[in-house]
Amino acid sequence: MILGTVFLFGLLVGSFLNVCIARLPEGRSIVSPPSHCPRCATPIRWYDNIPLLSFLVLRGRCRSCGHGISWRYPLVELLNALFFLGCVLQFGITGEAVVMMALCSSLLVITFIDIDHQIIPDVITLPGMVLGLLVGPFFMTPLAAPLPFNSAPFAGSYVTGLLNSILGLLLGGGPLWLIGLLWEKLRKIEAMGGGDVKLMGMVGSLLAWQGAFLTILLGAFAGSVVGTALIVAKKHRADAVIPFGPFLAAGAFITVFFGPDLKEWYFGMFRL
Ligand SMILES: [Zn+2]
Repeated sequence: MILGTVFLFGLLVGSFLNVCIARLPEGRSIVSPPSHCPRCATPIRWYDNIPLLSFLVLRGRCRSCGHGISWRYPLVELLNALFFLGCVLQFGITGEAVVMMALCSSLLVITFIDIDHQIIPDVITLPGMVLGLLVGPFFMTPLAAPLPFNSAPFAGSYVTGLLNSILGLLLGGGPLWLIGLLWEKLRKIEAMGGGDVKLMGMVGSLLAWQGAFLTILLGAFAGSVVGTALIVAKKHRADAVIPFGPFLAAGAFITVFFGPDLKEWYFGMFRL
């Protein structure tokens, strides 16, 4: 019953995320005007705007003009609903689950905007960083402890959490910022967009430095595998720009849902 409600709520929020993905990069309002068909401009009626269902009923076509509706709309709705479900299963019905839902939704929007426009909007990442520093310290994922220095005096306190959050922000954004700076100096081109730096600042402030570390590790791994595959398949030239945001987002999703297990497994190898 509760899980069903969470799933439906996830679909509804997902539907709103689609609006954000389409309108944020163009600087348009996300509240008005109401959704309309991009071709015939007919406003979409409420019964044609029901997440997932309407897409199936209309078989992916506009009711007035038959213009094809992208399969990405239902995909975003479904993914968001699954992430919400995952957050509740992972963190219970807690404030932490709510914050992780917000993180997942933000990452979904960032992923598709970065794929379409190769930008990551500050409108999402800057408030995300502030939110991370404000609420991050109240809960620290099982990933967070222990701090890299002797934290006994602060153990379990707000201060520990805040240090974890600040370290996460710096260690999340810092390395990408440095790589970007070096690359710019060496090749005279901008390689790592500032958006990626701020994205990692947001992820780090919410998932602590351990989470940021794991996210970058997974993101870089996924990015190099997919990047190499694309170049080998000759779909991309070797110097083509592939947006890094979606890979970082994928790394962060894995960190949120499987981070503690991965950490256990990773450090377990050294405990032999
Ligand atoms: Zn239409």
